[in-house]
Amino acid sequence: MSSTEATTAQSFADLGLSASLLKTLTDIGYETPSPIQAECIPILLQGRDLIGQAQTGTGKTAAFALPLMEQIDVKVTRPQALVLTPTRELAIQVAEALQSYAKNLPGFHVLPIYGGQSYTIQLKQLARGAHIVVGTPGRVMDHIERKTLNLDHLKTMVLDEADEMLRMGFIDDVEWILERTPAQHQTALFSATMPEQIRRVAQKYLVEPREIKIKSATTTVAAIRQVYWQVSGMHKLDALTRILEVEDNFDAAIIFVRTKNATVELADKLSARGYAAAALNGDLNQQMRERVIEQLKSGALDIVVATDVAARGIDVPRVSHVVNYDIPYDTEAYVHRIGRTGRAGRTGNAILFVAPREVSMLRSIERATRSPIAPLTLPSRADVTNKRVTDFKASVAEVLNAEGLDFFSNIVSQIAEEQNVSAEEVAAALAMMLQKGKPLQIPGEDPAPPRPMPAGDGRRPGGFGERERKPRTEERGDNRPRFDDRAGKPRFEGGGDSRPRFEDKPRRAVTASSEMIRYRIDVGRDHGVQVKDIVGAIANEAGIESRFIGRIGLYDESSTVELPAGMPAEAANALKRTRVRGVPINMRPDEGRPDDGGERKFDGERKFKKKPATH
Ligand code: ADP
Ligand code: MG
Repeated sequence: MSSTEATTAQSFADLGLSASLLKTLTDIGYETPSPIQAECIPILLQGRDLIGQAQTGTGKTAAFALPLMEQIDVKVTRPQALVLTPTRELAIQVAEALQSYAKNLPGFHVLPIYGGQSYTIQLKQLARGAHIVVGTPGRVMDHIERKTLNLDHLKTMVLDEADEMLRMGFIDDVEWILERTPAQHQTALFSATMPEQIRRVAQKYLVEPREIKIKSATTTVAAIRQVYWQVSGMHKLDALTRILEVEDNFDAAIIFVRTKNATVELADKLSARGYAAAALNGDLNQQMRERVIEQLKSGALDIVVATDVAARGIDVPRVSHVVNYDIPYDTEAYVHRIGRTGRAGRTGNAILFVAPREVSMLRSIERATRSPIAPLTLPSRADVTNKRVTDFKASVAEVLNAEGLDFFSNIVSQIAEEQNVSAEEVAAALAMMLQKGKPLQIPGEDPAPPRPMPAGDGRRPGGFGERERKPRTEERGDNRPRFDDRAGKPRFEGGGDSRPRFEDKPRRAVTASSEMIRYRIDVGRDHGVQVKDIVGAIANEAGIESRFIGRIGLYDESSTVELPAGMPAEAANALKRTRVRGVPINMRPDEGRPDDGGERKFDGERKFKKKPATH
């Protein structure tokens, strides 16, 4: 088995994907393959078995999903690929990804199957004929046993997040399934880590697999101040403009996002807010690209919003800031990105936006660059106002030294006399007129301080001082009585990963036989918690088999879990003490909200006003 390091990015076309799939990728806005995609796609297209190891968020889904799409024969209405995922949440996500890549493949049908969802619905859908089934091990086993899932036409089997399946105790189920798949088929195993047991499964069931491991290269970055902002409480765009406005020595910035579409969107929004901004992406021809860079050099543009490829090699000394608006796929890309600043002997600034689920990438970057990245405190409204006032004073002072003020002094005297006011009042009125275009005070509220970041690898690296740790207790006291809309409603942020996460549609069919009770727990997305963490904790602590765990609703600061009625006292007690990511979950019945089935909207007020006391 050989392991390969990330090579420089190629284009999707180089990887051997078909024209129709390439078109879909263009539509979606994927510009270049991520390293794991560049390595794995050609191998999977050859039909070989594969072990792919790369961190979370590096694009592993598309690495197997795109080759899968190439194999599917839409005319054969039998499952041709089976993807196993540890949780129903991931099953849904992967199914959604597959569906989006099937845009130009009419008649394609992907079916997620998972515990908790009604069998009736699943049976109907299976009978209708799905080309790809994505499921959790338990439910897939059930269907194989009931002979409702026929694997005779299976060409490819994918084990996604294999280490997670192991961690959640599904490995026997996975093996059981692997033993029942046809002899002739391709198997791909993806995992963020490679524990011994996963290696053993790979050795037993994969045939001469190619092994791809995306390593994080270690590099040092000099002369660049690196900070990160934990995305919370405020839209990324608002945070960005606040930060840029208050940053000292801001001259010009390159802002990195993941997709071409995002470059255009963000550049437009920044332009609307008065910045001289433009997009730089692979759609621009060489001439247009050079023009943008020229404008950035000359000062006609102050901000360029770019994808990784498009910004490669840009050397513009006045770039004082690099903003990683979307976190990069790997540490290497990070190093390339921030290398666009701190050029020609100047000091550069690198700002990284990190969503809770991306903490582990932040930690890898710190390790790879051997430099701690300090948390950035978001400038408050007062900070922004102060900065604007200072700038305003400076520009007035500049004009005071200019020639030809006499004419205007005269007018001011006249106004003062005619209106019977002081010259100071006239000056104030003029200042007010002047700032109409750009008010000195910004409207709105400051968000609550972010919750402390969970240390990705269970270890707190340097740079986490008292200030970082304190907010947890403060926030609790602060939040409970209020539950304002920020606490209650799911936030919608640019990244698209902050929708409330619900598992599935209402499960009336199941609740008819087994009554479910909804509980509320005190951990949510802001704690960096994912559905699988909750399922894992409950399965482990209360000994409830994961398939009996009902719908989970993931919100910012809390979550809901449905569990079968009649839970033994022992299990209930265990759950009271359970912690997820170090936070006590304090599970209690969620009496505040009647079980209204699969409501996806979330009315924060209605929900939280009647919230039972929690102490
Ligand atoms: P992983 O499975 O490795 O944790 P995902 O497959 O969930 O990562 O991908 C993370 C995010 O990156 C998703 O939002 C996905 O749409 C996006 N993404 C993946 N590949 C690309 C690409 N080539 N270009 C742009 N965005 C991508
Ligand atoms: Mg994944």
